[in-house]
Amino acid sequence: MESNEQTSYQCNECQAGHVTRRYITYFTWLGDQLVSVPNFPAWVCDICGRREYDHQAILWLNMLLNPEAGKPARKQVRKAPTIRKQPSRLGDSKP
Ligand SMILES: [Zn+2]
Repeated sequence: MESNEQTSYQCNECQAGHVTRRYITYFTWLGDQLVSVPNFPAWVCDICGRREYDHQAILWLNMLLNPEAGKPARKQVRKAPTIRKQPSRLGDSKP
């Protein structure tokens, strides 16, 4: 079966290799946790090893990993910048 989808293209990095679609294990950080995603679609050069991840897959993964995914975005919770009052020890002499 032939598909019209392009399965390989010339590498932009080394200009010699062919970038082909492969399935690799993708690692990403979720907060301070390392998450591994097996069988992640990526484009890998057979010469220089340059990797380019499938944009759709990245979007999909971010949706999965985002704890806010699926929830209605009613309000954005933003952390207000904390203003630190630095105790000025110098020059704060009591009378
Ligand atoms: Zn290359």
